[in-house]
Amino acid sequence: QYRSRSAFKLLEMEDHHHRFLRAPDVRAVVDLGAAPGGWSQVVAGFMGWRGEMGAHARSKRGSEPDAGRWGLSLDAPSRGVVIAVDRLRMAPIPGVHTLQADFLAPETAPMVEAIIRAKANLDGKADVILSDMAANATGNSTRDTQSSLDICHAVWDFTSRHLRTAHSIGRKRGGVLLLKHFEHPELLQFRKFYLNPNFHNVLYIKPDSSRSASREGYWLCIGFKDVTRTS
Ligand code: SAM
Repeated sequence: QYRSRSAFKLLEMEDHHHRFLRAPDVRAVVDLGAAPGGWSQVVAGFMGWRGEMGAHARSKRGSEPDAGRWGLSLDAPSRGVVIAVDRLRMAPIPGVHTLQADFLAPETAPMVEAIIRAKANLDGKADVILSDMAANATGNSTRDTQSSLDICHAVWDFTSRHLRTAHSIGRKRGGVLLLKHFEHPELLQFRKFYLNPNFHNVLYIKPDSSRSASREGYWLCIGFKDVTRTS
């Protein structure tokens, strides 16, 4: 029932690493490169939107006491919103606000912020930012590395402005960023300069469900500190 195989990657990463989508204070999740919508389905399911509870979450919920442990209930009112951005059109999903736009275009980030403000958090801050964006591989390693780097920089720029910190109104913990990238030494520099100093913890993850030959990996960045802006 998921629209993509990627949904299982997200479920695996979330389950093995801090269950970062299941915290009760996760109200606004930005899903970048969201089409066809597998990740958005997973997140909306965790938020309790009816009809979007994935098979995985459903089987984990099992009996009612279990449901309580997972903080989920089939009839629970929705408690958050997913903002899904992609260049491609996406079929609607309950609880998901879709924006068909190129994330690398300068006008896109302000639109996403406006949606967060209108739909979830008045301060325009996201609680979690997910990016599964990938440019089409050309086979030319230099060009593909550059595309991945461009995407990482655009996501970081957005994150630095719009991910909640522990100082955001009413928040105790900084937000979470999950960022897909291609494995390459230049990308390690990116991690070192932008991610490591700005998060309490940065993990490299290669999900089991990711094809082993693929050069993609994910950074899971937990506890946004925003050192760059505040110091
Ligand atoms: N996570 C998705 C899911 O579970 O269904 C799959 C995402 S797919 C691997 C990567 C997506 O990134 C593609 O749909 C592509 O259109 C999108 N993408 C790549 N570059 C983009 C950009 N600059 N702006 C918006 N979307 C982009």
